[in-house]
Amino acid sequence: MTQLPLKAGTKLVLASHNKGKLAEFSTLLADFGITVLSAGDLDLPEPDETETTFAGNAALKAVAAAKATNLPALSDDSGLCVSALGGAPGIYSARWAGPDKDFPAAMVRIHDGIGPDERDAWFICVLCLAFPDGTTHLFEGRVNGQITWPPRGKKGHGYDPIFTPEGETRTFAEMEEAEKNAISHRARAFKAFREACLD
Ligand code: IMP
Repeated sequence: MTQLPLKAGTKLVLASHNKGKLAEFSTLLADFGITVLSAGDLDLPEPDETETTFAGNAALKAVAAAKATNLPALSDDSGLCVSALGGAPGIYSARWAGPDKDFPAAMVRIHDGIGPDERDAWFICVLCLAFPDGTTHLFEGRVNGQITWPPRGKKGHGYDPIFTPEGETRTFAEMEEAEKNAISHRARAFKAFREACLD
């Protein structure tokens, strides 16, 4: 069966309970005539991220949603990797902030773990498109940069105040949303997905 590209009129489940991601993907996919349904609205359980890679966790979430709904499903998994920390926090980026989403504490933990000349870091986003038969397609976006200290900027979310992308002097948190969205790891992963999967 030919599954790609996804045609206008396709219903796609977003395997995330995050309302911000639903809004972002709904807007991006509306241009292609694709309707996005959310895992939350469909009452799907949120699987534990038990894998050890971004791709593994993205696939686990997308396959669970595709099998549960009998529809194609899209998931994402993302995080910040710091070279001197062996790639940490990586897949544990959200978990380093804890249940209270204490990102100031998580940023201090990163800063305390690296020396002044060990600032190389990158953000990664992996998107997974899964079909009910278990087929998966993975797309990765990456943006390289440097850890900045002290944190700067009030925009954005998560680790944005300590990440300065390559070729920039401002952190992600000092950029307008549209500027960040033009170069972000998420934008790059979505571009790869769009080129491969959308009509
Ligand atoms: P996910 O939603 O399970 O993929 O977790 C992603 C985590 O990585 C978020 O909670 C943030 O901690 C971090 N993260 C991913 N993308 C960004 C970004 O663009 N800016 C700041 N933090 C990010």
